[in-house]
Amino acid sequence: MAIDRFGRNIHYLRISLTDHCNLRCIYCMPEDMTFRPNSELMQDDEILLFTRLFASLGFDKIRLTGGEPTVRAHVVDIVRGIASTPGIRSVSMTTNGMLLSRLAGPLAEAGLQRVNVSIDTLNPHKFKRLTRWGKFEDVWSGIQAAEEAGLTPIKLNAVVVKGYNEEDVVDLARLTLEHPWQMRFIEMMPFAEATDIQTQQVVTAAQIKERIEAAIGPLEVANNGRLDGEARLFRIPGAQGDVGFISSVTMPFCASCTRARLTADGVLRMCLLREKEIDLLSPLRAGASLDDLRQLILEAVWFKPWGHGLAEGAIPLNRAMNQIGG
Ligand code: SAM
Ligand code: SF4
Repeated sequence: MAIDRFGRNIHYLRISLTDHCNLRCIYCMPEDMTFRPNSELMQDDEILLFTRLFASLGFDKIRLTGGEPTVRAHVVDIVRGIASTPGIRSVSMTTNGMLLSRLAGPLAEAGLQRVNVSIDTLNPHKFKRLTRWGKFEDVWSGIQAAEEAGLTPIKLNAVVVKGYNEEDVVDLARLTLEHPWQMRFIEMMPFAEATDIQTQQVVTAAQIKERIEAAIGPLEVANNGRLDGEARLFRIPGAQGDVGFISSVTMPFCASCTRARLTADGVLRMCLLREKEIDLLSPLRAGASLDDLRQLILEAVWFKPWGHGLAEGAIPLNRAMNQIGG
């Protein structure tokens, strides 16, 4: 088991398969973003080796992210390898959904269990404005394909940005009336590359909830008030699905965090919003033994920061969001 010095059992690894992406969301990266060459990214066998290593330390839950994980070559085979690793019980993915129409079936067949799909608005024009390159219809059909393939329960993520989509939260929340989906609203967080918009156009979870309740009426507490991962869950009375709020900025959930993140270039990051990182890929390529790597991981886990420092103005600037994975 990997335990940190505060007694948290760290068993959930988010692996970024690539920093590359087929969209350019305004809250994530600039339009002229440059990406790492593939040789600097973990190769397929390196991803599977790290998965086995983390599994041997008690990690049992993997989420694949990016950049956009579905643009990674051999993504289906990588999922198959991870899903068949002894000790791994849960394999999910966070995706922009653009390629799911084609990939949902093969990914499910390879062992993927669930997807979170990012969808910030139901308005195709606003969708384009937020993602710069995205086509709403592609994502919408991707969500249907995911549901048909059994990648359920479907969770949808919307980052809410002042001046872009704060009015759209009501229509997004209404999706849960007819679909057994979890619609989660995320407070925008600041990272390198897009900090102006990220700090100045935040809409808080409280403001989002207020807007939804003004239009639809009071939300009921769901999940007995317990967090579902990082989301606080509510329900529109009579709805099939839930509405969730991820308030990393105004109400952090650090105390219950059980996560570590492995970036696409093989660096372990123990807090999304802290700059400290531990390189695992360079030692692996330099010939470190599996035991050496296990020691590096256990030490990194032990020193996992208690929480982030956004409230004190500590903004992590060494990586943009697509280079960490969310
Ligand atoms: N490309 C995939 C996607 O968009 O779902 C996976 C990677 S993306 C970095 C992971 C999640 O982070 C997405 O739900 C995205 O909306 C969210 N995200 C990106 N930039 C963010 C920011 N500045 N603050 C909060 N969430 C952000
Ligand atoms: Fe790409 Fe996801 Fe970042 Fe949007 S949020 S640019 S889809 S990595």
